[in-house]
Amino acid sequence: MVTGRDDSHHHIGGPTEKCGVVGVALGGRDAARPLYYSLYALQHRGQESAGIVTHDGFQQHSHVQMGLVGDAFGADDLDGLKGEAGIGHVRYPTAGDVSKSCAQPFAVSFKSGSLGLAHNGNLVNADELRDELENFGHAFTSTGDTEVIAHDLARNLLEEDLVRAVKRTMERIHGSYALTIMHDETVLGVRDPEGNRPLCIGKVDDGYVLASESAAIDTLDGELVRDVKPGELVVLDPDGSGFDSYQLVERDNTAHCFFEHIYFARPDSVMNDTLVYEVRRGLGRKLWEENGVDTDVVMPVPDSGRAFASGYAEAAQEDDATVEFAEGLMKNRYVGRTFIMPTQDERERAVRLKLNPIKSTVEGKSVTLIDDSIVRGTTSNQLVQLLYDAGATEVHMRIGAPPIVAPCYMGINMATREELIASDKSVEEVRDTIDADSLGYLSIDSVAEVLEKSRADLCLGCVTGEYPYDIDGEETDRDVSRPVVGAEAPLSD
Ligand code: SF4
Repeated sequence: MVTGRDDSHHHIGGPTEKCGVVGVALGGRDAARPLYYSLYALQHRGQESAGIVTHDGFQQHSHVQMGLVGDAFGADDLDGLKGEAGIGHVRYPTAGDVSKSCAQPFAVSFKSGSLGLAHNGNLVNADELRDELENFGHAFTSTGDTEVIAHDLARNLLEEDLVRAVKRTMERIHGSYALTIMHDETVLGVRDPEGNRPLCIGKVDDGYVLASESAAIDTLDGELVRDVKPGELVVLDPDGSGFDSYQLVERDNTAHCFFEHIYFARPDSVMNDTLVYEVRRGLGRKLWEENGVDTDVVMPVPDSGRAFASGYAEAAQEDDATVEFAEGLMKNRYVGRTFIMPTQDERERAVRLKLNPIKSTVEGKSVTLIDDSIVRGTTSNQLVQLLYDAGATEVHMRIGAPPIVAPCYMGINMATREELIASDKSVEEVRDTIDADSLGYLSIDSVAEVLEKSRADLCLGCVTGEYPYDIDGEETDRDVSRPVVGAEAPLSD
């Protein structure tokens, strides 16, 4: 990961989502601007590069640039993206190099037509598929897994119709994916059979939208229709009049990323029919029930802990009306995300640049500080110190998620096992390291309860070390194995 890169939506050095995807099909106006606004709404899901691919019925148009959405597109670029259908992508790299060759959407023309692909997630069997496809003469231009999906699909399209070709590719790829795809002027959305990464369908006046999060649909003044189902293919009518649905793969259990609800998604997005903000407040309430501590004041780490703290404080006040809920840390909004700190030492100073305590809400008081997660622990340690320096008598830390003990292979830039503070430490040892008076996390069962899911339908890999996919060298939490590809199972003929 690019260390020192700050994601102002979350906290410093925290996990980063890899990508956001969008697709639109409209009747009667160009798709470029709606795609551009949608990408703005999804900017928190990736800041490394942004791209749009459209199709005007004759040919594909593509503009992909490194940088933030606002910097990647000028008015001329948008004007050049002709056509009423298109897909878009914001990216934070996890698989593949940090270079333009891996920026997305991936666009290419094959014998079977033109294809554009935008991918959120991460395949765990991309290397096997790449080897096999290379043996069949496919030449790759990037190291990313998205190009592997594109080539596999292109190959299947030579023999099958669109729906069958997608199904066949889905049976061969293993891992997490929410995809928006353009095949000529047809826009498709696909969600992996485990539903690991989110994707939803929205309606606007003159067409339909597919997006990682419903906040993108809101930005277009549209209505959320529903989530794309795990294993479902959605095909938008090119004239914007509707969409078709095909349930291509079905599993007994899903593996939704619980971390989307806790950390990545915008609080104003709706996922699994629930507003993310309300889920976070519910997790905060549960945290009080499970691990509450009596203090003078409850305060969030901005902005990541805010919804949790509001739920936690509300529940605490129901038990003790004198508990204060206050903003105790002020954020400097102008520490940009391009603020690159070359050394670990300077990186640690970033917290002080970014957050300043409001003395009056802290001085002489016992404080509960609420955040959504602890990753490396460096930030938490500095925040605790900051509050002590501002005169807090006690600092108790409460976290709206279970301890993160293992890395993510599904496309979240989580840090390595060695970097994760809880991977080899007990809660008491973590408390000692961050120097707080007490530390409490939320249990896995409580997370499942608040998300109204059974544990078996969630991905909990990063908090249990057991994954819903067959990953080399890691344990699984279900009966799962990779599809056989390569020499043992050659493509047909
Ligand atoms: S390992 Fe954690 S972050 Fe990764 S997909 Fe699973 S729940 Fe989400």
